Amino acid sequence: MRIFLSGLLLTMLLVPGYATDWSTNMPKAKAEAKANGKLILLNFAGSDWCSPCIRMKKKIFAAPAFQQFADKNLVLVRADFPRKRKNRLDKAQVKHNEALAEKYNRQGIFPLTVLMDAQGKVLKTWEGLPRLSPDAFVAQIKPLVKNKPAKKTETGSLNNAIKLDETHGLRVFKKTLLLMGSRFEVIVVDQNQITAQHHIQAAIAEIKRIEQLISSWDKQSQTSAINRAAGIKPVMVDTELIALIERSKRVSKLTQGAFDISFGSIDKSIWHFDGSLKKLPDAATAKKAVRLIDYRNIVIDKMNSTVFLKNKGMRIGFGAIGKGYAAERAKALLQKRGVKNGIINAGGDLAAWGNQPNGKPWTIGIANPNFKNQAFARIAVKNQAVVTSGNYEKFVVIDGKKYTHIIDPRTGYPVAGLKSVTIICPNAELADALATSVFVLGKEVGLDLVNQLKGVEAILVDDAQKVHYSKNIPLQNY
Ligand code: ADP
Ligand code: MG
Repeated sequence: MRIFLSGLLLTMLLVPGYATDWSTNMPKAKAEAKANGKLILLNFAGSDWCSPCIRMKKKIFAAPAFQQFADKNLVLVRADFPRKRKNRLDKAQVKHNEALAEKYNRQGIFPLTVLMDAQGKVLKTWEGLPRLSPDAFVAQIKPLVKNKPAKKTETGSLNNAIKLDETHGLRVFKKTLLLMGSRFEVIVVDQNQITAQHHIQAAIAEIKRIEQLISSWDKQSQTSAINRAAGIKPVMVDTELIALIERSKRVSKLTQGAFDISFGSIDKSIWHFDGSLKKLPDAATAKKAVRLIDYRNIVIDKMNSTVFLKNKGMRIGFGAIGKGYAAERAKALLQKRGVKNGIINAGGDLAAWGNQPNGKPWTIGIANPNFKNQAFARIAVKNQAVVTSGNYEKFVVIDGKKYTHIIDPRTGYPVAGLKSVTIICPNAELADALATSVFVLGKEVGLDLVNQLKGVEAILVDDAQKVHYSKNIPLQNY
């Protein structure tokens, strides 16, 4: 796969939580507050000596309730007054912070938190660490937030939530609909509603076309024809399908079979994720079914444009790569039509390109596997795909244990150990396939693989709720 060799650089920034971006520049903060109809929350702190300041940061500012609210309504500014030598700020910053103290914190109270409007007019202050829950703190700010421009929107969060921002005559147009059994969103940036709608319709048509080609549920699809003829004869199919199978096989090779589109041989026979499965199949049954899973037995004849599954009972399915493929193709089509900025959200598998209308990169929230509608991390992406495979999507519970819909081709059993795997890389199809692969490979081997692939990054959440990152994800703590 060309992408492995191309060495595309990742330009991204990872910040835990929502509005963890604390500005240290008041003039800039004022401009942002003005442009987006936000208020400014200025916090005076002594980051290396003032323990109430540190507690405030942990208890209030780090709380999701605060962060979610701040993300939409506030520009956060920090004026830090460190005392330790090594934490010393540069001269300009010291001057900037002292000027702020001169204006808003004459008495030198730490922490001191000041809510002001975009012009710097003080609306409310909190001296010391407020004895308030994050919710109560937010509740004190809420009534003061008004005149917010109606332009700003936030999409409902599904798996990976997208934050949208609109300015400069450019607007975000979006359509949500059910495709490939998942919630899809097509998002384009345009100045004109009519052209935007045409673009969106074209993308939807493309996704539908792909669904018809690769669905293994649809009896009319070429994929179903291949499955029906397993062990009998090669089936002639479109080159597009052959190419997708070829790339899938390459991922199988790369992952030593952890990823295998012929997992489908087992899917229907012993695993049912519709609630009808009440007990685990015994090892012998699983083992028997596993025999049919082997990507090497998917025989491609490019000359004749045929695909042949060598053994009777073999089946292929694109559950782990299809949505990524569709997102990638829809993106390519829109780019060809001249759409410079947009996102295809294929049931939480995202392909983003360009920027938001305000010129800033798209920011994407990574779903918290325990609370699907909450993000635990937010990343700014530039021409990247962000894909999450989670065991909260489809699963069965047997004897109180959760089993995911991802199957280890070696054992025939659902994989355990991880709650979610997010892959970030320039190509949504690859991201989709790798998310599933890493799920099967597990934390160590999976991360090891990702760390060897240029331009591919991963965020894993394990069963103990611990988060693991691949090597090149820069973490920021405030
Ligand atoms: P999601 O559908 O939640 O995005 P995935 O991309 O990980 O999650 O796809 C999971 C689907 O992939 C399963 O429902 C199944 O159809 C298929 N699948 C399961 N195990 C494997 C495997 N080892 N290799 C390839 N595909 C798999
Ligand atoms: Mg996948």
